[in-house]
Amino acid sequence: MSQRTRIKLYAVLCMAGLLALAAREIDFGPTINLQRDIVILNDGIADEEMLAMLQDFLHRRFSLPVHVVKKPLALPAAARPKKPQWDMKDLLEAVISRVRGEGRCVLLTCKDTYTRDMNWSTGLARCNGTTAIVSVCRLNPSFWGDAYDRAWHYKRVRKIVLHELGHTFGQCDHCGDWACAIHGSGSIGEIDQTGEDYCKRCDAIANAAIAAIRGEPKTAR
Ligand SMILES: [Zn+2]
Ligand SMILES: [Zn+2]
Repeated sequence: MSQRTRIKLYAVLCMAGLLALAAREIDFGPTINLQRDIVILNDGIADEEMLAMLQDFLHRRFSLPVHVVKKPLALPAAARPKKPQWDMKDLLEAVISRVRGEGRCVLLTCKDTYTRDMNWSTGLARCNGTTAIVSVCRLNPSFWGDAYDRAWHYKRVRKIVLHELGHTFGQCDHCGDWACAIHGSGSIGEIDQTGEDYCKRCDAIANAAIAAIRGEPKTAR
């Protein structure tokens, strides 16, 4: 084998190793069943009370086991922000590449985030996907110059988590009903205007997806 061939082979092996590392699935341990459970992946949230609130809320709302886990999220170099904000799509893809299962994984992050068509964004998910990103940064009233109000902050977090999970449950478009959590919002004021839970129609879509996660047979129509 020539020196040049050896160097090429070494480079290929290094590249394969890096790709394997980037795509390695997160090991959540034996107590978490990603086929069924909801996992809140804590990305830098120091407010333990918020995490406990969300865990309890999602468990009561969907009757699925909910876990909060803190695992470092290895991001490819390309996902590092070029400004103080992080690209939601990069974060979503980083989680998708490391999580497998039919349950749901919500990355709850303290990072300030944007999307390619909005200069800030609080959430992103793929329709019928299993993963969602929610940033609590701009949901904090203090961000907008209001006095800190924990109940207000938590209410916004619940709404956005329900909204993004609703997309993963199969509500691909935004709902036209302002009273529904899956109504679209283009400002923090509009987030406050939207409802705190799904409308009847979006609830039915979510229920069908949750029944499938639980492995329940489809109900006859
Ligand atoms: Zn949406
Ligand atoms: Zn709706």
